[in-house]
Amino acid sequence: MEKEVYLVSSVKCKSYSQNEVDTSVLKAINLIGGIKKYIKKGSKVLIKVNAVGSHSPDQAATTHPAVVKAIIKLVKKQKAYPFIGDDPAGLAKIKQVSKKTGLEQLSKETKTPIVEFLNQTVYKDPKGKLIKQFKLSGKIKQFDVIINVPKLKTHLLTLYTGAVKNLYGFIPGMEKAKYHYKFPDKYIFTDLLLDLYLLLKPQLTIMDAVTCMEGNGPVGGDKVNLNLILASNDSLALDTVALNFIKLYNQAPLIKVAKKRKFPQSNINNIQFYGIKKYKKFKKPRSHYFGILGIFLTRFRNLTAAKPYVNEKLCIGCSTCANFCPAKAIKIKNKLPNFDYKKCIRCYCCNEICPQRAIYLKRPLLLRWF
Ligand code: SF4
Ligand code: SF4
Repeated sequence: MEKEVYLVSSVKCKSYSQNEVDTSVLKAINLIGGIKKYIKKGSKVLIKVNAVGSHSPDQAATTHPAVVKAIIKLVKKQKAYPFIGDDPAGLAKIKQVSKKTGLEQLSKETKTPIVEFLNQTVYKDPKGKLIKQFKLSGKIKQFDVIINVPKLKTHLLTLYTGAVKNLYGFIPGMEKAKYHYKFPDKYIFTDLLLDLYLLLKPQLTIMDAVTCMEGNGPVGGDKVNLNLILASNDSLALDTVALNFIKLYNQAPLIKVAKKRKFPQSNINNIQFYGIKKYKKFKKPRSHYFGILGIFLTRFRNLTAAKPYVNEKLCIGCSTCANFCPAKAIKIKNKLPNFDYKKCIRCYCCNEICPQRAIYLKRPLLLRWF
């Protein structure tokens, strides 16, 4: 069997001005072989964005439309057919969040259809370790090429979300909640993500790492500029490079699990890198503990992990959190969520899907002091 070659490029991109993004995306793809290598004339191309929820592009929670537009232009230049797709967090569908994320406007402007991931079909995953078959939208089969277009962010559960985690958006609605409930441990959940990556293996990955998110991501963190566009022929290889850049490589569950499973592309030395290297230490989410203490705390997770709370001033009583909570740990009383912490599995989905960003996390007092 031919040995796989992992290519990753990184190009400076100072802003989201369309000209600059177009130039950076083109340059990043050229460094790993050029668009012709990945897109053939007449092919149907799914651009899998991060449209986690109803957030405007300047909130840095979703893939910026300027990056998506640059990719659409390149796909069209190849005389291929682009489509935009994702299944947001919670029960929302992409068309419900596309106005705020800028995708609706982009879709109209470029005449690129937005695809909702409906009609579930079973996809066998013989290489999967934890999951041997996934229920995903049957529509995915219609595409010849997947371009994975993640946003670089930190994440309350998995510490980091990039290219591999972006593939979780292929799992529709309540299926996501079921997996969170079944695999609340971040390392086991990461096994699931890697199984999904093995099944889907996007041909091309372009990461929006211009304005990123650090701290309590994926939606409630702080904006931080890295000013890069990354490209790769392999989503995991791209994450390996990105995690090195933001100095979370050694702590990321993705890398720990990938190394255990002997994925060569989780080692930076096995990657052919082109372009500029840029390092910036990202703040970690409040929900993550490290060092020796981390091992102890993981064992007693529900006693020690940060708990979700509601900011009563921001909450509008929409019930989105209660309807999705995988553990059924939220009940709406007097138009406010009430958390049952005995049931809560600390998946932090409620924080991710709240349209008001009204759910925040707090660690137990003793640990905060410690
Ligand atoms: S916390 Fe957020 S999701 Fe839950 S009811 Fe309030 S506004 Fe809705
Ligand atoms: S209350 Fe929030 S953190 Fe707890 S299980 Fe439900 S969605 Fe997850």
